[in-house]
Amino acid sequence: MNNRQPQHVAILGGGLAGLLAAYHLREAGLPVTVYEERDRIGGNCVTFRSGDFYFDSGAHRFHDKDKAATETIKRLLGDCLESTDAPSQIYSGGKLVDFPLSPLNLLKSLGILGFARSTYQIARSRLTGKSEPAGDLKGYATRTYGSAIAERFLLNYSEKLWGTTPDRLSSGMARIRLKGLTVQGFLRDAMRGRGSQAEHLDGAFHYPDRGIGAIADTLGEVIGSESIRTRSRVTRVLHDGSRVRSIILNGVERVDADEVVSTIPLPHLLGIMDPSPGEAVLAPARTLRYRNLVLVALFLRKDSVTPNATVYFPEKDFVFTRVYEPKNRGRSMAPPGQTSLVFEIPCDPGDAHWNMVDEELIDLVRSQLAAIAWVKPEEIVGSETRRMEHAYPVVDVDAGGIRDEILGFLERLSNLRISGRNGRFVYCSIHELMIESREIAGAYRAGAGEISGIANLSAG
Ligand SMILES: Cc1cc2nc3c(=O)[nH]c(=O)nc-3n(C[C@H](O)[C@H](O)[C@H](O)COP(=O)(O)OP(=O)(O)OC[C@H]3O[C@@H](n4cnc5c(N)ncnc54)[C@H](O)[C@@H]3O)c2cc1C
Repeated sequence: MNNRQPQHVAILGGGLAGLLAAYHLREAGLPVTVYEERDRIGGNCVTFRSGDFYFDSGAHRFHDKDKAATETIKRLLGDCLESTDAPSQIYSGGKLVDFPLSPLNLLKSLGILGFARSTYQIARSRLTGKSEPAGDLKGYATRTYGSAIAERFLLNYSEKLWGTTPDRLSSGMARIRLKGLTVQGFLRDAMRGRGSQAEHLDGAFHYPDRGIGAIADTLGEVIGSESIRTRSRVTRVLHDGSRVRSIILNGVERVDADEVVSTIPLPHLLGIMDPSPGEAVLAPARTLRYRNLVLVALFLRKDSVTPNATVYFPEKDFVFTRVYEPKNRGRSMAPPGQTSLVFEIPCDPGDAHWNMVDEELIDLVRSQLAAIAWVKPEEIVGSETRRMEHAYPVVDVDAGGIRDEILGFLERLSNLRISGRNGRFVYCSIHELMIESREIAGAYRAGAGEISGIANLSAG
């Protein structure tokens, strides 16, 4: 970036990362245009409507982790933002186990012998200093939590979620997911009695009353339709080796580039660069894998199924990893007296579940739900499926290094910034996208070379 105010910033992708970048850049007084290939904004952070039912693109909540991000969300959403307090549970061994896992729950779930063995395993690894992260999820989880807990609650779950064995997943990824599963406090809780709730992610959180999609919708309104171009697929990024010169939309329209922020999936960006970065960059980029998600929503003539925000399903007998009941997150997500369940099925692009026709998917979920006996068949009054690409970047043991090299390679284009979960191939949440986009705007405002803080928002 040279030391001047940009005349215009082109933002590639209209998911939350793109919208947040546009919002903060506009706030800094910079003209922007968001180019989004779909006919709607919000990417993977939207709320779908089906009659009087609403459900999110996967179970979402806004984490109150960054003061400025929370203030911005509160300012944007006003009264629509609610403070929700709904528990979560794990379905294991035919029972619902409270989440976060407490010693008492584990005692009930593992039995006295299993509990004693787990406590011993954890204590031993703590005492022998073996709880330091290993390079991969399996080693880290087993050393930190003992094999009994790791296998029952974490490793199968991770394999279902990421579609790869836990010894192939990085421990950085492990830490994030384990934190989400909050087994972390187990030993501490076991020693001190229940406590540590404040450190757990589940429980209290912020949520817009009619779904997480309100964030993107409101950002869209504030940014303004004149600055957002939907149905505008970026098909080429033309550069001269030191700067992006122009972008091509839908294969035909050329837009000269001043400054560019890309939030589109990283391998995709490399694939549309002209001239091509060459096989030395493209070949490793092709190994970066994203996990897709199929959602099956069942609409129910029933007031409530469970009080939970989310129920986790670590066992491999179930095709889904999580089930959430939208009404337990936002009061308006289902009509009075009715509720819904949304089942998340992680898939690889083109695998059996991704390709399954909707009716078969719904039948599969209905048959597995019958085994849990939460709902009578006649209570199901409707259903819907949704498919989401690029739901999760799979940061396996090799991917972090490859990603960092690619991001390093792209730094040679001085007017190109990379942002977003899929853009940077980083497993991150909304509040982290907010920090990132704030820093991008701050760097543009400040002029040359002050963007480095973004690279410090660590990958994970
Ligand atoms: C199941 C699930 C649950 C989640 N839960 C939470 C949660 O509880 N809390 C939380 O904080 N975060 C959560 N997140 C994360 C949050 O939703 C993401 O951070 C966010 O969706 C990522 O936004 P993004 O803009 O980086 O990527 P995306 O949402 O993928 O946006 C990228 C956009 O680029 C567009 N695009 C791609 N290629 C092109 C092209 N060539 N030209 C133009 N446009 C293009 C896409 O259509 C898309 O709109 C969750 C995510 C998922 C998937």
